[in-house]
Formats: sequence, structure tokens, C-alpha cells
Amino acid sequence: MKNNLRRFSIWYLVLFFLAILVAQNYLELRHLQNVSYSDFRQLIELQGVRDLVITTDIITGKLTPAGVEFLIKNGRNPELAALMKQEGAVEPHFTTIRLEDKDLLSRLDAQGIAYTARLDRTWLTSLLSWLLPMLILIGVWVYFIRKLGAGAGGGLMSIGKSKAKFYVEDETKVTFKDVAGVDEAIEELREIIEFLQNPGKFQSLGGKIPKGVLLVGPPGTGKTLLGRAVAGEAGVPFLSLTGSDFVEMFVGVGAARVRDLFAQAEEKAPCIIFIDELDAIGKARSVSPITGGHEERENTLNQLLSEMDGFDTRKGVIIMSATNRPEILDPALIRPGRFDRQILVDRPSLKGREDILKVHVRGVKLAEDVNLNTIAARTPGMVGADLANIVNEAALLAARKNKSAVSMKDFEEAIDRVMAGLEKRNRVMNPREKEIVAYHETGHALVAQSVPTADPVHRVSIIPRGIGALGYTLQLPTEDRYLMTKSELEDRLAVLLGGRVAEELVFQEASTGAQNDLYRATDIARSMIREYGMSEKLGPVTFERERRPLFLEAMMPPSAKDYSEATAQEIDQEVTALVRRAYDRAQNILAGKREVLDQVAKTLLEKEILEGDELRQLLAKTAAS
Ligand code: ADP
Ligand code: MG
Ligand code: ZN
Repeated sequence: MKNNLRRFSIWYLVLFFLAILVAQNYLELRHLQNVSYSDFRQLIELQGVRDLVITTDIITGKLTPAGVEFLIKNGRNPELAALMKQEGAVEPHFTTIRLEDKDLLSRLDAQGIAYTARLDRTWLTSLLSWLLPMLILIGVWVYFIRKLGAGAGGGLMSIGKSKAKFYVEDETKVTFKDVAGVDEAIEELREIIEFLQNPGKFQSLGGKIPKGVLLVGPPGTGKTLLGRAVAGEAGVPFLSLTGSDFVEMFVGVGAARVRDLFAQAEEKAPCIIFIDELDAIGKARSVSPITGGHEERENTLNQLLSEMDGFDTRKGVIIMSATNRPEILDPALIRPGRFDRQILVDRPSLKGREDILKVHVRGVKLAEDVNLNTIAARTPGMVGADLANIVNEAALLAARKNKSAVSMKDFEEAIDRVMAGLEKRNRVMNPREKEIVAYHETGHALVAQSVPTADPVHRVSIIPRGIGALGYTLQLPTEDRYLMTKSELEDRLAVLLGGRVAEELVFQEASTGAQNDLYRATDIARSMIREYGMSEKLGPVTFERERRPLFLEAMMPPSAKDYSEATAQEIDQEVTALVRRAYDRAQNILAGKREVLDQVAKTLLEKEILEGDELRQLLAKTAAS
């Protein structure tokens, strides 16, 4: 709006000058009589002219009544008579082209006619002659700059300025109540907000406040939403930017923006800086200086790193950030003193999904038959954004059918639609896959429970996470370990194979889901034989040489094995045998617990996550049976 006004005023200015020019010319022209030089010479003799102004090209002056009379009488200027009638006793101006006339001045002097000389141009015309084109040029220039800048936000003039938006509490209106299913993340964020509101309390106890908080999680889990909710809850200024805001076509702009952002933050402290989608600037810097190309982004990243280092949390500024792809972030960003606190914003569990649905149906009129729990159960692996989508889709469907409330059938249809979209992107398991994963994970858990030395099972989940892992079984060690015995490693092998064994036991065939388990198991087995000398057949011998740095490896031909081909074969056989034994062991364990396997897997299918007491109780039955 403001920009528009300014643009117009410049055009008005140009118009104004043009108008003056035209008006001036018009006024002059009206009374300006062209007189031939021969007439002019006669007019001098008649004293028909006075107050002459002589320039290099023309002579102007006023016509006396005698002059006017002469011109009219000779019929020289027909319009002159009309003018005289109209305006009465004015003395019209005249102009004539100056000719070479040596004794002009002496004749003027003889008649006592006053004259002055003047340079060709008046100050006004000379001023206008350069000012006007310039004004027009400036106008055009400004217009294009505005046009260019309009898309980018601030325009050229504000290029180095950060585009941080300030949100204050009552502006965003998003609070933690609008974010569901990520209770742990909210808990941690609350703590940080509390610090900002009451820094003294924490510092007096010597507590150290994290400088940077990184929200990590798959897309659509609500990271951006959490960021905005923090703004709503904190009651301190909140500077929000997206990583791509720093990436500009102009060199040096990103770094300048970072500098400006931190300068602003310092002014507003205590406050929160939120950089969404950090990966846009935080990508690991390229190793090879030859490839180059990303220097601009690196400058921005370096600037960010140095600003974070130079920052003192005691001033009460906390830098929050969010990313879907922590793995591509530059390691320097995650070092202590930078984003040293990482908060996982994970895919929601069954309960979490129900809570998220509750948030989103707040403004929706629901029919009586709608059961959010059932909807949550039908949407494993979906994230908050998907669920919001389902609610919206269902409401639209109901509206299209002119219903007064959204019914369960609309939801079912909406789920199918959204699911179809997601299946294309490979993000949702079908029920059969889910069942396989449930048995697979239960297999791990039961074997872990049954072998003597395995770490206790902490959590079993069939909520897919990341690429490849469809579920997981989390074992937490009860103590730190520096050494592992042979039987511990064998137990670990059995646990790793438990997943595959369970699948085969129940479905009579293997799936691809065990690939990572097999990889890890083989790796352990190979190390046991080649490195730790744990094979009875081969004896306490190691076959592994210390690894050389990669670049040396590349330059030199691979060294010959220092053992025979026959030994190599034996090593392979031993590795296979070790894995086989572990497999058989797992099979024995699970075959004897088929009932429990079914029971736990079924519970897992229902709840998707088993942990804590519930898991312990279920598994305790196992120990008894
Ligand atoms: P991210 O930044 O993690 O990719 P967003 O915060 O942009 O995800 O989420 C997109 C939308 O999905 C949100 O605006 C909100 O409507 C919905 N949403 C996502 N997660 C949640 C959640 N945990 N609770 C409520 N709504 C959510
Ligand atoms: Mg986001
Ligand atoms: Zn597995």
C-alpha cells in the first residue's frame, strides 16, 4: 500500500512539471506575435517596439500601440486585431528571428529603445531540459525496482535486512493446546519458555540454558506449529524466519540477513529466534573446494555459526530451529554451544493421533456415530498434517452431500482418499504388512527376554519411522559396557534373528523386513571370527589387519590377503555357521512360546507401542510359561 502511494507521487511530480511547462508556453504564445525582420526594422523607426531582449537567435520585446497599429494596418497579423479587441490595452509580446544586422544597436539607440542581451536559455528552461528527462528516468527506474522487489518482499532497498517477522503472543493465537500427540516435546519447550520469562531463577542456581533448540522429526508432525505455539506461549518477542529466506540470488545477502537478524534479536531480548527448515542453510559444507558452487550458502552458514558462538544466552535469546533432515545438517551446527538441545517430534502413537484429531475436530460439527479412536486406529503412520487433512476432507465431503453434520462414513471416505495419496508416497503400511511387522518385532522382544544376557526390552513399536525401519524394538543397556563376552555376542545374534524367525514361524515365509537385522547379525558374526578369534575351529587368530586411511587404499593396489584361500573359505563357513546356530536358537525359543507370541503381537497391533509396565507384564508371562 505504502509503496503504491509513493510510486504515484513520483508520477504526479512529473505531470506537474509538464503542466507548468505547457501553461507557461501557452501564456507566452497567446501574446506572442511573430514579426518578420523587415517589419521589425520598420517598427524600430516607428518606435513600435520597446524593452527588447536580444539573444543570439531571436529578438523579443513588447509592441507599443503604434507598433500594433502598424501591424494591423498592414494586415500582417490578422489575429492581432481580435486579440486587441478582446484584451483591451495590453501590449503584446513579439518575437523575430535575428538576422545579421551590423547597425541594429545604433538605430535602436537613435530611437531611444531600451534593450538588453540574454543568454539563450532561461534558468527555467535549462533546468527543465535536464531535470525532466531525469525525473522520467527515475520514475521508470523506481517503477521497475518496485516491480522486481514486489515478489521478493522488501524490494532491492531492503535486501540486506532480515525478513524476520515478529510475532507477539496475541498475534499468533496458536498455543500448546493446538498441538497434540507430542507431549514430551512440549514439556521440554515449556522449560525453555520458563527460562525466558524468569532467567534469574535459573541462573542463580548456576543452571546453564541451552543456546539452541532443534526440533527434529518427519514432515508434517507439527514442528512449525510448535514453533508458532512457543511464540504464543512465551509472551516474548518471537522472530520467525524460514531457512530459504536466507538464500537469495545476490551474493552476501544471506550472511547480511543473519547478521541483521541477530542484531535485531539483541535489541529485543529476551526473545526467541525461530529458523524453520534449517536444512536450507544448514547443509553440510562441501568437502571439496574444487566443486565449489555453494559458497553463498556456506557464507550464510558460517555467519550463523559465528553469530551463535558470539551469543550470550544470559541476554535471554534462544535460537529455535526445525528440520526434517537432521542427517544432512552440518555437524558444526549440532556441536555444544550451538543447537545443543535436540527435541524429537516423532510420528504420533495411536493415543497421540486421537488427541490430534480432537484438536482438529474442534470447529467441526460431528455426527453421533463418529469415533475418533477408531479413526486413529485406522491411520497408523500418519502424522498431524495427514490427520488435519482427513478432518478437512471429511467436512468437505459432508458439505458436498448437504449434511448437517460430519458422519463416520465421511471420515472413512476421507481416510481412503488421504491414504491413497500417501500410499503413492509409500508412507502407510497395509494391514498385512502391519501384522508381519508386529510379529517381527515381537520376535525380537521375546528372544531378548529369553536369552540370559540380552539388555532388557524397553519399548516395542510398529510405527514406521525413517526410511526402511518399519518398526523397532528398543533395548536399553542397564550399565555401560566396555567388553562383551562370546556368549553375550551370541545372545545378541539370536535377538537380531528373532524377527526373521517369528515371521517364518507364523507366515511360513520370509519378508524383506529383516534385511537390516541380517546385515547387523552378519557383521557381528564376521567380527567374532575375523577380529576377536572366537572360532574354535580356527583358533585364537585374527584375520583383520588395521585399516589404512581411505586415500592410501585408493592409491595402492589392495594388499594380498595374508591367509590362504582355504582359510578364507573356512572363515566364511564359520561365519555362516555362527549365524545359523543363532537362528536355530531363536527358533527353539519362539517355537516354545507360540501362544505368547500371538498374544503380544496382537496387543502390539492394537496399541502400536508397548512399553513400561504393560510390556513388562506381558513379557513376564513369557518368562513363566
Ligand atoms: P512440520 O513443520 O513438522 O512439517 P507443520 O507444523 O507444518 O509440520 O504441520 C502442518 C499442519 O498439520 C499444522 O498446521 C497442523 O494443522 C497439523 N498438525 C501437524 N502436527 C500436529 C500436531 N501434533 N497437533 C495438531 N496439529 C498438527
Ligand atoms: Mg515445517
Ligand atoms: Zn528386526
